[in-house]
Amino acid sequence: MPFSPSSNKASNVKMVVQCEECLKWRVCYAARVLKQDQKQQLELELDTLSYSCGAYFQDIDTGGDDDSVFNHIYVNDKLTCDMPIEAAYFVTFSDPLCFYCGSEHNLEANDGQDPLCDICKASGKQPHSKNTRAFVPR
Ligand SMILES: [Zn+2]
Ligand SMILES: [Zn+2]
Repeated sequence: MPFSPSSNKASNVKMVVQCEECLKWRVCYAARVLKQDQKQQLELELDTLSYSCGAYFQDIDTGGDDDSVFNHIYVNDKLTCDMPIEAAYFVTFSDPLCFYCGSEHNLEANDGQDPLCDICKASGKQPHSKNTRAFVPR
């Protein structure tokens, strides 16, 4: 990515893409706020896109189309399926997801903590505190 994945860059897009393998939602980033037609194009493209963690939108064959929205949108290509939901997600989107597995169900969220689902809780995971530094992939 040409910039670091911040919540500002995420709110320029306000869209997520789901990994086909781990089913976690990954945040889309852009340097500038998307125009309405770019947003629509992205929504259509994401419907048919098969994305998995670590993929890079700029590797998508756009047929040399300079107007393709994929020339402007980035996902964090350092992500792997083992990584939790990105910190920028929780800043940009209000829909709660389990920090660890991305589940939308049976969530528990205490003040200052990211949501934790009952399955992750039962497996011994501790609630992730929002006050820790943003997760930075290596
Ligand atoms: Zn994944
Ligand atoms: Zn979970």
